[in-house]
Amino acid sequence: MNWDALLESLSRLCIGTPRRAEPLRRHTTLRVGGPAALFYKTHDLEEFARISIWAHEHAVPVFVMGHGSNILVSDKGIPALVIYNACQRMQIGEMTYAETGVPFRELFLKTAQAGLSGLEFAVGIPGTLGGALVSNAGAYRSNIADLLIEIDLVSEGVRQRVSPEWMQFSYRDSRLRRPNAPPTSLLAVRLRLKPDQRRAILARAREFQRQRILKQPPEFSAGSFFKNVYDRALAEQLSNLPEPMREAGVVPAGYLIEACGLKGYTVGGACVSRKHANFLINRGWATARDFEHLAQHIERVVFETFGVRLEREVLRVGDWNGTTDVP
Ligand SMILES: Cc1cc2nc3c(=O)[nH]c(=O)nc-3n(C[C@H](O)[C@H](O)[C@H](O)COP(=O)(O)OP(=O)(O)OC[C@H]3O[C@@H](n4cnc5c(N)ncnc54)[C@H](O)[C@@H]3O)c2cc1C
Repeated sequence: MNWDALLESLSRLCIGTPRRAEPLRRHTTLRVGGPAALFYKTHDLEEFARISIWAHEHAVPVFVMGHGSNILVSDKGIPALVIYNACQRMQIGEMTYAETGVPFRELFLKTAQAGLSGLEFAVGIPGTLGGALVSNAGAYRSNIADLLIEIDLVSEGVRQRVSPEWMQFSYRDSRLRRPNAPPTSLLAVRLRLKPDQRRAILARAREFQRQRILKQPPEFSAGSFFKNVYDRALAEQLSNLPEPMREAGVVPAGYLIEACGLKGYTVGGACVSRKHANFLINRGWATARDFEHLAQHIERVVFETFGVRLEREVLRVGDWNGTTDVP
């Protein structure tokens, strides 16, 4: 790709100034990641759509980025046009409209203030609405897919309005996380919310937040690194698993990692949190490679101990050629 020529062509299309080689560690909550070949922050939905269509027409790979709170970006960076989505218009009502660059917790606050319930679970999730859609973000037995009415998007260069089924949602998953997903920019959504008393909504959210503060480490992380394991037979074998989890047939990934004695296990500057074993934290000097090696070590030990292949919740993105070897 001739990125310099593409920069010139893209500049003609943009309200602001796209740039080359923006370090992505500035934009991820793990504070790791090399440069983006091209980087542009958009605040305007029409511009976001226009750039997505332009990229498709010019065969330019695109990576849409929200707050970088669910990605592990390679030290070599992302050889693509990274569109940082800051489109944040909202219209609050029982049918709420929101652009996907809206911070998820701000969407909760605005809807709660209007006496609308449904997004209480979003209060401590640090990403954008767009990132939440891609991973069907959720907590406390709720998730974003349950509230969706429709989505505006550009997929393979075509702007369209689709129903939630298009996303093929499941637990912390959608078709956009899978290999060979169609290149797609999620633009905006409509959500269905329920009227309730403001005080009751805020009380529920405060309780969720309290539970989070107790469990989550304060250091740089990407939240839960691995998905919980839905396996009834395994849940029944584990004698000290809390009863509600055994009943639901779910084994938290953090339980397995802790049971393998991996709390505090460190590779370079990346470490398994001592507070919550499913949080991999940056001690300040970690590289993406440290996180990758740490994750691979955890995967290997959990498999050897429990026969379980952990699935990652955090998405590995960018150029990983030659760096996926284990220490
Ligand atoms: C402390 C902490 C706590 C967390 N707690 C939770 C939790 O309780 N529940 C939970 O589900 N998650 C949790 N997370 C993970 C994360 O915050 C969510 O997955 C969040 O929704 C990701 O949003 P983001 O904007 O940061 O996405 P990013 O990390 O920027 O992107 C994630 C993926 O979505 C894609 N993407 C983002 N926006 C768009 C768009 N507009 N169009 C197309 N693709 C897009 C990106 O290309 C990428 O593939 C937590 C993270 C942290 C750091």
